[in-house]
Amino acid sequence: MEQYIEITEKIKHADAILIGASNGLSITEGLHLFADNQAFQDVFGDLKEKYGLRNILDGYFYQWRTLEEKWGFISRLIEHYSGTYEASPVMKNLKTIVGDKPYFVVTSNGEGHFEQSGFDPDKVYEVEGNWIEMQCSQKCHDTLYPSMASIHKMAKAERNGIVPTELIPHCPECGAVMKLYDAQPPKKNITDAWNNFLKEYHEKNLVILELGIGWRNQLIKAPLMRLTAQERKATYITINLGEIYITDNIREKSYGLDGKLDIILEELASKIN
Ligand SMILES: [Zn+2]
Repeated sequence: MEQYIEITEKIKHADAILIGASNGLSITEGLHLFADNQAFQDVFGDLKEKYGLRNILDGYFYQWRTLEEKWGFISRLIEHYSGTYEASPVMKNLKTIVGDKPYFVVTSNGEGHFEQSGFDPDKVYEVEGNWIEMQCSQKCHDTLYPSMASIHKMAKAERNGIVPTELIPHCPECGAVMKLYDAQPPKKNITDAWNNFLKEYHEKNLVILELGIGWRNQLIKAPLMRLTAQERKATYITINLGEIYITDNIREKSYGLDGKLDIILEELASKIN
């Protein structure tokens, strides 16, 4: 296909690649936050029945009566999707596409799969936080702590959605219960790195690769399209299933690939390799 050849050339000649990703990428990897699907039934069938949960997000924002139940849900969720995660074919193909070029990732996905797939944590800006790190719920200090060791212990001990009280993580400074990192405040080293990336590749051949972001998304997609408009030499590639949206002002330097992410990235990776 002509379009793939052009895109491959753009990527090969890019000075840097900026990846934007949202839940379409997670869904491709099997993590669907909004679906009452078979995976939800398999992992959370008992809690679905007990609490009336309709999907993962529902559980995430559920008004849990006790911390033991809250962390029961959270630890099972995170252990399942990130505890034993290994780079999926989608992530491997994405790494092939990036190759050894400078890159930066901006994502609203918080499952930590970019880091766990070998992307540099200092180049991954998780705008809504992530669940592989935690912080003091009272924000008595800003330090982030890795969460996976605690999660693993809780998940192992969890029975019927409830974890033992003594395994619930607490702040080492003030003793308050911990919470998952919610990007408040954003990590300064990451926002600095993001600004430096934009400065360094200003006026350069920047390829913006957007993965699975809904057409109305204001958090990542709209800023990436504005960046494309501002950067004379930028190329914008948006991949999404059934929702390709490109504003008129960047149309001549944009490509829209409508289809399944895993298939499209495999195709691109095989052409670049
Ligand atoms: Zn604290």
